[in-house]
Amino acid sequence: MNERHQLIIKNAEIHRQEILDAERWLWRHPQTGYTEWEANAYLIEKFEALGYELVRADMDPEFGKIPGFYTDIDTGKPGPFLCIMGELDALDIAGHPESVNGMTHCCGHNCQAAGMLGLALAFKEPGALDGLSGKIRLMLVPAEEMIQLAFREGLREKGVISYFGGKPEFMHRGYFDGIDLALMVHTESLGKDLDFLGFSGHNGCMSKVITYEGKSSHAGGAPHLGINAQYAAMLGLQACNDLRETFLEKDFTRFHPILKGVNCAVNIIPDEMVIESYVRGSSLEAMVRENMKFNRALAGAALAMGARVRLSDRPGYAPEVHDMQFSALCEEACCELVGKDRVSFPDTLHPASSDFGDVCAVMPGMQFYCAGAEGAIHGTGWYITEPERAVMNAVRVQLLITEKLMSNGCAAAKKIVAEHKPLFPSIAAYFEAVNRLMLDKDAVIYDEKGNARIDFQNG
Ligand SMILES: [Zn+2]
Ligand SMILES: [Zn+2]
Repeated sequence: MNERHQLIIKNAEIHRQEILDAERWLWRHPQTGYTEWEANAYLIEKFEALGYELVRADMDPEFGKIPGFYTDIDTGKPGPFLCIMGELDALDIAGHPESVNGMTHCCGHNCQAAGMLGLALAFKEPGALDGLSGKIRLMLVPAEEMIQLAFREGLREKGVISYFGGKPEFMHRGYFDGIDLALMVHTESLGKDLDFLGFSGHNGCMSKVITYEGKSSHAGGAPHLGINAQYAAMLGLQACNDLRETFLEKDFTRFHPILKGVNCAVNIIPDEMVIESYVRGSSLEAMVRENMKFNRALAGAALAMGARVRLSDRPGYAPEVHDMQFSALCEEACCELVGKDRVSFPDTLHPASSDFGDVCAVMPGMQFYCAGAEGAIHGTGWYITEPERAVMNAVRVQLLITEKLMSNGCAAAKKIVAEHKPLFPSIAAYFEAVNRLMLDKDAVIYDEKGNARIDFQNG
């Protein structure tokens, strides 16, 4: 590591305790997507105390009030605009021993957010921007986890948001206009031997709310007068499960429904059953194709039982395709920091999904994992056991990556931007494509004789 790299890492090192304190504070204040007001207020205060001017998503006159903000750092010299992101939201996971009001940071976003404060502190140190060109946007983004779909649909109907994910919502608001490339480091449990892990990308996803409607009646005395929505739902899921062998391996299709339960008692035939699910896939085309089959199966099951089914599909996250040149630069920075044998960047896809994929759909982007947690991610045994690795390593490597991208007249960043081939030519073209996933249908329409018409596709 050369002298300059040692200096920029020292710029974070001198704020080590404040950064690690932020990680603990954020862990103790977990809130789910679009309700992260405590973390938002905490970080706004810290950033403003450092003299940063913020653009706040809760003070945007054109849009609804949601948590999240960004600030720009201008080196004063021309060059590409790099956006570095940290996520604010926690998970709805009441079974975690340290959950607060049923929520816990079981995806480690508290480390990302603390890391962003680390970057904000380091970039204010004397000499931090020496030799750099271009601009840096530090962005705190809400609502990465695609959960609580009914709550988000309510926000959408009220016009507070247009998209369920924080990053597509920020894209819609224009907060990514003019950005040339994007970076994010996510915490993971990677064991003792590995500090950094990067994939070629992530699966995309779309969200579904499936509502079966039947007819209530006495479960013992008059079941013949009812239509059991729960049975219709189970039949629908059985049909979806039986489609699994038709999936192509290359598509990485995932369908993982949860039954949200019935508002009913055990002696009543249930007249409603709500299911939430994703359809995941490695391409938009695969997601659309497999989702059509799921919707047909769900409608067929309703018809079999004489029930109705409402299908509500929403855009989720675009398949995340990393820029390989940017990935190689990140891998190089990781190796410089911790040594080659503690870094792995396999050329494979990770089957989880992230709204970082939406950003990567329109610009070169790279997200990779940093060790320091233990237990299964999204599980009740997840803890940040080594904040030194989870937070400080993430801060250090992001400083190094920024340096590599933006020093030397931004030569590396310029080359990545110039040679990148985005999935969509513009943010508008991207929205046009994902908006076509939006669907609201009563999928089985009966006539007076009991014959039915099936309607489960747009257009
Ligand atoms: Zn997660
Ligand atoms: Zn996450």
